Amino acid sequence: MSAQPFSYLGESIAPGTRKHLEIDVGRLPSGTMLSLPIEVLHGVEDGPTIWLSGAIHGDEIVGVEIIRKVLAVLDPTQLAGTILAMPVVNVFGFVNESRYLPDRRDLNRSFPGSKTGSLAARLARMFVDQIVAHCSFGLDFHAGSNDRTNLPQLRGNLDDPETLALATAFGAEVMIHARPAAGTLRAATLRRGKRVLLFEGGEPRRFSAEAVEAGVPGALRVLHALGMIDQAPTSPMGASLLSRKSRWVRASRGGIFRLGVALGQHVERGDPVGVIADPIGAVGTPIRARNGGVVIGHTVNPLVNLGDALLHVAEIQSVNQAVAP
Ligand SMILES: [Zn+2]
Repeated sequence: MSAQPFSYLGESIAPGTRKHLEIDVGRLPSGTMLSLPIEVLHGVEDGPTIWLSGAIHGDEIVGVEIIRKVLAVLDPTQLAGTILAMPVVNVFGFVNESRYLPDRRDLNRSFPGSKTGSLAARLARMFVDQIVAHCSFGLDFHAGSNDRTNLPQLRGNLDDPETLALATAFGAEVMIHARPAAGTLRAATLRRGKRVLLFEGGEPRRFSAEAVEAGVPGALRVLHALGMIDQAPTSPMGASLLSRKSRWVRASRGGIFRLGVALGQHVERGDPVGVIADPIGAVGTPIRARNGGVVIGHTVNPLVNLGDALLHVAEIQSVNQAVAP
C-alpha cells in the first residue's frame, strides 16, 4: 500500500522524501545551543518505522560512520516504511569525546529517564518520547568502552524468534543473548513491547574498519529482512555463532600484558592467552582462558593492575545459518 505523509515533530514528511530535523537539547555553559540531528527517511510504501542510533556513549563514534554510510545508499523512493536516524544521541559526550554526560552520568544507565531529572535522564526521556515511541524496532550502535576493543557482535533478546531472525539476517560473527541491565535503552525498549538489537564493534574514538564493514551491510540486511528494501549485500559469513554466556579473563597480577590471541579466535579452557610480565626480563606469568569460546573483546592497554579485565570470551551454544537476502 502507498504510504501517507509522516507527521513528526510538527512536520509533515511526504512519501518518498527525506528530511533533516534538529531537536534542541539545551545550552552549553557558553550559551551555545546544542541540538540533536535526526534524519527521517519516509518511504513510498507502508512498512515498519524503525530507528538507527549511535553515540549513546559519546566516544563510541563508529556507529556515526555506520549510520552515515547506511543513509548514503538508501533511497526513500525505493523504501517501504520509515527510518528515524539519530547518529549522535549523546551530543554532549560526543563534543567532549567522552562516554558520559558532562556530570559523568552514563546515558545508557539513565533510561527511561524523566523530564525533570539530570541531563542524562532528560536526554533519555527525549529519546524514548521522540524515537522509541514512534518505532517498532531499533538498531543501536556501540563500540568497546575505555581501552577495550570488541569483535563486531550483536546483543539482544534472542529468545524472541523475530529478534533472533533479525540478528541472524544481520550476520555478525557472534550474537549474544543477554538480559539488558537496568537503566539501559534496551531495557526501556523491551518494557514497551518493542524490539531492539545492539551492535558492538571496535573501540571508542576510532572508526574500526572491521566494525564499519560488518555494521553497514548488516544493517542493510536487517532492513531487507523487515521488508523495507528490495536488495541487500549478501553475508560473507554464512553463519553467526550464538552465545548465552561470556566471561572476562582478569589480570592475576599487575604488570605489562602481552596479548597472545586475536579477536574472533577460538580458545579452549586453559589455553594460554597472554603473559603479564615486568618491564625487564623474559619470564612472566601466563594467563589462561577460563572457558572455551570465541574472543569477543580485549584490552588495548598493556599496562594492567590486579583484577583488570584482559579479554572477553563468549561460549558458543549453536551456529545459526545466515539467511540469504
Ligand atoms: Zn556503548
